[in-house]
Formats: sequence, C-alpha cells, structure tokens
Amino acid sequence: MRSIVPDYLNEALGDVEAVASGEPAGYIPELALADPERLGAVFATVDGEVYGAGDSDVEFTIQSISKPFTYALALSDRGFDPVLARVGVEPSGEAFNEISLESDTGRPRNPMINAGAITTHSLAGAEGLRPAERVERVVQGLSAFAGRQLKVDEMVCASEMENAHRNLAIAHMLRSHGILTEDPRAVVEGYVRQCSVLVTARDLAMMAATLANRGVNPLSNEQVVDQAVVRQVLSVMATCGMYDAAGDWATQVGIPAKSGVAGGLIGALPGQLGIATFSPRLDAHGNSVRGVSLFERFSSDMGLHVMEVPPAARAVVRSNRVRAGAEGMTRIFRLQGGIRFAGAERIVREVLESAPSEPRVVLDVSLVHSIDDVARRMLLEVARRLTLDGHEVVLVDPEAMIPAPDPGDGGRLTVVSEL
Ligand code: GLN
Repeated sequence: MRSIVPDYLNEALGDVEAVASGEPAGYIPELALADPERLGAVFATVDGEVYGAGDSDVEFTIQSISKPFTYALALSDRGFDPVLARVGVEPSGEAFNEISLESDTGRPRNPMINAGAITTHSLAGAEGLRPAERVERVVQGLSAFAGRQLKVDEMVCASEMENAHRNLAIAHMLRSHGILTEDPRAVVEGYVRQCSVLVTARDLAMMAATLANRGVNPLSNEQVVDQAVVRQVLSVMATCGMYDAAGDWATQVGIPAKSGVAGGLIGALPGQLGIATFSPRLDAHGNSVRGVSLFERFSSDMGLHVMEVPPAARAVVRSNRVRAGAEGMTRIFRLQGGIRFAGAERIVREVLESAPSEPRVVLDVSLVHSIDDVARRMLLEVARRLTLDGHEVVLVDPEAMIPAPDPGDGGRLTVVSEL
C-alpha cells in the first residue's frame, strides 16, 4: 500500500496550480527573477517523517521566515528581559516594512515586522559580538533548526542591500531611539544576510517541526532552544506572523505561521507537525498567494486549526471498582488516555465522590499514555491526602508514566508494575 499523505499533497498542489494571481516580490531585483511557477509543499511530523510534493527541494531565500527563529535565538542567548525591553509582542496590524515604532518607548511593536526583526538580529548571540560573528551565530542557529548546514545566497543578499533604503531608514530610527546601540548599517547588513539564507521547503518544514516538537529537531534530536522560548515564539507567530493579515489568518487557518517574500510559508502545529509551502507569487500583504490557499485547505481538510476544540476526552477514569482479596478490600481506579489539568480534576472528583472506605486504594495508570506536570502533581497530592486519611496507596505504573512518584509531606506511595 502507498502512503496516503503524499497523494493528498499532490492533489492539493494540483488544485492550486492554476492560480496565477499575485507577483513575485519586485523590490528586491533578484527575487523578481524567480520562476513564478515553482510550487512545493512539505509536511514534517514531530517524530521525523517527512512528506514532500512538487518543488520541495528547490532552494530559495528564507527572507522573513528567519524572523521567528532569530527571535528564538535572541531569547535563548540573552534571556527574555533584555529582548522584551527592546521589542514588544503586540500585533501591529501594519505592513511588514512599515516605519513605525511605539510612540512612548521607541520599541518596535513585535519581532515579525522589519523594525522588530532588525532589532532582534542585533540581539542574537552573546553581547559584544562583531557583526560577522553575529551573522555566523544566526546562520548556525538557523542550520540547527533545519538540521543541515545552510548558506547565504550572495546574489540575493547584494541585490537586497543595494536597495535597502527603507530598512536602513528603520535602523537609523531605531538607533536614534537607542533601541539599536551600534552602527545601523552593519546591523542591516547582518539582517539582510540572515534573510538571504537559502532553504528548501523541506528545510522550512523541519524548522517548523522543531518548533512543533518543543524545540527539538525531530531528525537530529538536538534541543535547539528550550520550551519556554518555543512557547513565546509560537505565540508571536500566531498573533503577528502574517502582518496585517494576521486576524484573517487566525480565523481562517489558525496555525502559528510565518511568510517570506521569496514565497516561502511555514506553519507549526504544536505536538503534531511542521508545514512549509513554496510559491513565489505574493498578495498585497507580501504573503504567497498559493501558499495561503494551500494552508487554508490543509487546515480545513485536516482539522488543523489550533482553536479546534478536540472531542471531549474519553473519560480518564476507565473504571472504579472494589475488589475483595485475602489482604482485605481494595478500591481500584483505572485511569486512561492523556491526562492534563481537566482530566486530573476529573480524577480528583471521582476519588472524592467515591469517598473510599477500603484500606487499600490503587491508582492504575497502565493505560495512561501521557500526563503533564500539573496532572502528575495533582495525582501525587491525591495519593498524599489518601495516605493522611489512613489508606495504603498503590500506584500501578509499568511504564514509569509518573517519574519521581514521591507525594512528599506525609504521603506514601507503593509503586508496582502490575496488580
Ligand atoms: N528581507 C526582506 C525585507 O526586509 C524580508 C521581508 C519579508 O520576507 N517579508 O524587506
């Protein structure tokens, strides 16, 4: 049997192939030369499976898709406070290259517009790096996200730099507000090199999958940035990634995303997959026309909208029974599925309502496939309170779903691998 996913991707590409509206970016002469017919799409799952269709291995420049990743590097290299002090997180509702800063602080509104991204570039790497070293840090960082060594397209870089008047104006303005502290031209040169890094749709899908996989590249297994950074980056992508089309995108597609003027578009679906498309013709916002339409289709065909409410989790309490044995009566709660806060609350309620009078209480998590930190702490607290009420508490946990099962403070828990 052939896999279903590549067939689906090919069919989706076929459906948008005829769409010929929009134009490749014209303000960077080299980009205007791009073949407008190129079309590719890639899905990369968080466990490392990659499905490509069409022009999935054709190289093009990353452009603004570098912004969320460089933001991640800056947060990771400098910490949150210094970065937040210089770049906000409010959607601007403006075009990507708008010359606007917050009126009171002079901060760019967010790291996805050019003003924010130029500032973020200056914050990547350790403080005091020389411009060339900083570019090196950024290219290495982008490469780690992609899981392959990336390089700069010198032609596109030179072409953009020759026409970078607007970005230079933005940088000078940032310098006058003290948001940039060094030579504005050197920072713009670095930023333009960052935008000129060559990637394929496959690379972009892996980069997005690394975000979807909590910062761990699914193929190299490298932890590129930590989870707190990923959460920040995905939030900013969700609210600001599509510039002045962010609200439309949030409602129609609902996947944290970022576009670039060379025609790339990525989406990162937390815990599931990274998606990338490539098609150079752009709409008025600078987003790929066929890319946007592919994402709309992916989202609705596969229910990928992050606000899609999942079907109510099947009861986390599979059964609640009392068993009589030689050692006396035992109350057994068999739990199942994935447990997060709401599931754990359900379990707490079940235990309270049963008010077990049996001397032994068993929490059986053999059918639980995931449990997050808050749920783990809540279950341990249930165990602690049951101990204080005089019960012997047993945890059936053959696969160590609950690491360090110590309820603390007077609680006792016997862990066994089967009942
Ligand atoms: N390098 C481009 C610029 O600064 C990136 C813009 C984009 O991809 N939206 O204008």
